[in-house]
Amino acid sequence: MQVAYIRKEKCNTTMCNRCVKFCPASRKDMPVIFIGRNKKATVVEELCNGCGKCVKICPEKAIEMKFIKDKVVAAEPVGETEEAPSKQTAPSQAAPAPAPKHKETPEEKKARKKAEHVNRVIRTAIACVLGMLAGLASFYLAGTMSMTDGTQPMPVIGLLILVLAIVIQKTIFMVIRIDVSKLGKKDWFYQGFMTFVTWYLSWTMMLSTSFLSA
Ligand code: SF4
Ligand code: SF4
Repeated sequence: MQVAYIRKEKCNTTMCNRCVKFCPASRKDMPVIFIGRNKKATVVEELCNGCGKCVKICPEKAIEMKFIKDKVVAAEPVGETEEAPSKQTAPSQAAPAPAPKHKETPEEKKARKKAEHVNRVIRTAIACVLGMLAGLASFYLAGTMSMTDGTQPMPVIGLLILVLAIVIQKTIFMVIRIDVSKLGKKDWFYQGFMTFVTWYLSWTMMLSTSFLSA
């Protein structure tokens, strides 16, 4: 059978953890991939079902699939050997033995929580910066401000810029390798809300400042 194999020298968990979150075979109490003490992703071969999905999700191309013949081969440390697929090491038809349970150690949990926290801070900062830029763009692009009531003739332009600033976030996260696969509706709502608040504040501040100084 095939199992995932981490090329440790390529694995970069600083802004990642994607495989840990993404592996469909992982359960909270029994992760198939976890971040080890060396801060590198590690596969519990006995639990890996060989689906190969993590290979596609890894931005560093640090995950490959390797064939294992049986449990004895599977017991080899992950990442220590690189076996080319061959007929001798073709998937075994033997029924899999019961998988041992892997419990996340406190260090692994701490590392995972820290990575999640860093990602959250980065996501919030991006939402706020985009909101501010959208506010400035709205001010300059929504038309000449009326000197009587301080409004602009094309506020819809501002709304369109806001929508763009919210929608573009997913692409930015993917470009800077922040995992978006586990972000739920609440997370996206939060991103949009933060962008909206900073957009609204910066736009109205620009309007009031210009109106008062006119
Ligand atoms: S997705 Fe790749 S780079 Fe990220 S933690 Fe997993 S193996 Fe490492
Ligand atoms: S091959 Fe599938 S089951 Fe195995 S670690 Fe990757 S995603 Fe998880």
